[in-house]
Amino acid sequence: MNIQIPERRPSDQVEDDAVQAFQVDALDVRGRVARIGPAVDQVLANHDYPAPVARLLAGATVLAVLLGSTLKQMGRFTLQTQTDGPVDMLVVDITAPDRVRAYARFNAERVAAVSETGNVSGALVGHGHLAMTIEPGGDQNRYQGIVTLEGEPLEAAAHRYFVQSEQIPTRLKLAVGEEIRAGEPKPSWRAGALLVQFLPHDSARAAKSDLDPGDAPAGHRHHRVAEDDAWVEAQSLVDTVEDHELLDPKLSSEQLLWRLFNERGVRVFRSQPVTAQCTCSRERVASVLKRFPESDRAEMVDDGRVVVTCEFCGRRYPFEPAEIGL
Ligand SMILES: [Zn+2]
Repeated sequence: MNIQIPERRPSDQVEDDAVQAFQVDALDVRGRVARIGPAVDQVLANHDYPAPVARLLAGATVLAVLLGSTLKQMGRFTLQTQTDGPVDMLVVDITAPDRVRAYARFNAERVAAVSETGNVSGALVGHGHLAMTIEPGGDQNRYQGIVTLEGEPLEAAAHRYFVQSEQIPTRLKLAVGEEIRAGEPKPSWRAGALLVQFLPHDSARAAKSDLDPGDAPAGHRHHRVAEDDAWVEAQSLVDTVEDHELLDPKLSSEQLLWRLFNERGVRVFRSQPVTAQCTCSRERVASVLKRFPESDRAEMVDDGRVVVTCEFCGRRYPFEPAEIGL
């Protein structure tokens, strides 16, 4: 059977808040590019974070959108850090197919102290770990990947995860910026990210040099495997992507991909939209409260009521004690 795949020029229609999957058959690479404008701005508008924390959370959000966009119709993807830095927790979750929400927990004084030192995303996070959890929904098992964070940007840790744990040669780029628009009182946040992975049919082609054998006997010759030419070419193309290209609201994802891969031909798939929307509800908050021990619930009563504030969206849910089984 012959399947006809239509060919066309790249669309100059910018789709903001969307993830575009693509593949370059000639180089055996597949990837995704995420361009997030109003959605990341909305996620941050729910909070009043200092700029360095907002920037960090915008980066975590676009990273989660990029990595979580493979979920299909149901399920949830969560990216969460737990560290010793001034921002000791970042949580972003993606509820399929398109909802994203996020929050950060931080110490304002420590953030201010670190922020004076320039490029700070690694220092703000500090040391600890980054967990990526997929709950596919239905009766499928939950899957969690964990990687240590070593005072580095999140994308560096995510990159290490793919290379070490998944053993997939990967290139990952991420950019966050503020866009100043005429007539608007304050700048809007934007974030963009590009993931490219080398997935040849013959997996031996994805092999890399062996790790250093450490205590191997003297005279042991390292066994080295040269990187595959196609992957070398793909990486060098990805390395030409500039931050402003990932952020430019006038450059479509297709145009960006065309700039990179036009000599090889790039195939794009239907893009996946992203919307900033919390999944909290009064019923859900009440059911979480009811699972707490009664003594804990009793301690939460203040002025005759229990008030729970959603950490993601800031919405307040007041309850009468009787409503939560007290
Ligand atoms: Zn909420």
